[in-house]
Amino acid sequence: MPTAHEFDSPMYHEAVGQFSEVAELMGLDENIADRLKVPQKSTVVAFPFRHDTYAEVETIFGYRVQHLTTMGPTKGGIRFAPDVDLGEVAALAMWMTWKCAIVGVPFGGAKGGVRVDPMALSRAELQRVTRRFTMEIINVIGPETDIPAPDLGTNEQVMAWLMDTYSQHVGHAVPAVVTGKPPALGGSVARREATGRGLMFLLPQAAAARDIKPEGVTTAIHGFGNVGRYAAVAGEQMGAKVVAVSDISGALYNPDGLNVDAAAKWVDEHRFLEGFPDADFIDGDKIFELPVDVLVPAAIQGVLTEDNADSVQAKIVIEGANNPTTLAADKKLRGREVFIVPDILANAGGVTVSYFEWVQDVQKYFWTENETVGRLREIMVRAFDDVHTIATSENVDMRTAALIKGIRRVADAKLVRGVFP
Ligand code: GLU
Repeated sequence: MPTAHEFDSPMYHEAVGQFSEVAELMGLDENIADRLKVPQKSTVVAFPFRHDTYAEVETIFGYRVQHLTTMGPTKGGIRFAPDVDLGEVAALAMWMTWKCAIVGVPFGGAKGGVRVDPMALSRAELQRVTRRFTMEIINVIGPETDIPAPDLGTNEQVMAWLMDTYSQHVGHAVPAVVTGKPPALGGSVARREATGRGLMFLLPQAAAARDIKPEGVTTAIHGFGNVGRYAAVAGEQMGAKVVAVSDISGALYNPDGLNVDAAAKWVDEHRFLEGFPDADFIDGDKIFELPVDVLVPAAIQGVLTEDNADSVQAKIVIEGANNPTTLAADKKLRGREVFIVPDILANAGGVTVSYFEWVQDVQKYFWTENETVGRLREIMVRAFDDVHTIATSENVDMRTAALIKGIRRVADAKLVRGVFP
């Protein structure tokens, strides 16, 4: 087995641990298992970033990790976060591989990260960091090689600057180099809402699997960013009762149901949820312990832990964030028969519409919102059914079943390609 000290980090060990357990269960060829434990290509850069004060120049670290190049270009977001490191990005790249394989989009996994706090940057600073980082990784990205997208701390505007920097470099507009762009630049309709919508499409199926009537299910959503906010909107539209949402300021709770549109409007005007009328304002962490049917962690990693897993009252957890549940919490929740729809399935709506966006850019032919959302629903529902079938027939939980589906597809592709030379 390869030793990979390069990627040492708790998250990487979680990703490899999870993979190894399932690989063993599947009886996966050991050579293939070893290949899949480490990413195929990792780029680490350190670059200078000039603050608005001009005299201050800081050295910033950035990463782009491409886990699997077997089946097509690699795909995955870029996160801007103050503590991101190579191991975290490598773990997230590996999860992107399984995610793409589970929904059947022809990409391998990738992820990028820049170790910077985007909340502390002015708009001009954010633009300079984005453009310089893009230049640093310009030789490893491209519409046929590796296609970035938004993730934590990045958004449509950041993707637009990335697209512009790449296009300036090659001398013509290349919309397909990145997804999650503004529609004016070749972004897809319904991409912004795709992750939140995609996970809510799975709510009726998860409810059926747990013998709960989907109408009026009480739902709490941790996070009110690009995933949580649109999950709340979609949940409400689908007849769920969204009773709590949270952001870094705290959580809103109203057992009679929140007015999600009003909360979204409040955040547009006031930046944070705090101060919103018509709901109790409670400590953000309390959201995990509320008496609800469904809990959607949709913000950051590692929020459901060994310490709070026993306080979770929800019967269903749908993971909007990447890796919100630690391995220890996962075991505890499973032991209590909580039905977990794992991140690599639940939040795959984002990369699915990213795939649609790339296809539209490459073909220069754009789809309507109905076409896009209809195809998203079809793919999400089918992926859930496939995973649930494996879970039932192999008598395993949904995370293990999802990993089996993802790993099997990748391993089949690797076997038929063979080893070069
Ligand atoms: N960052 C998102 C994820 O973790 C989206 C990736 C993409 O659209 O390529 O799935």
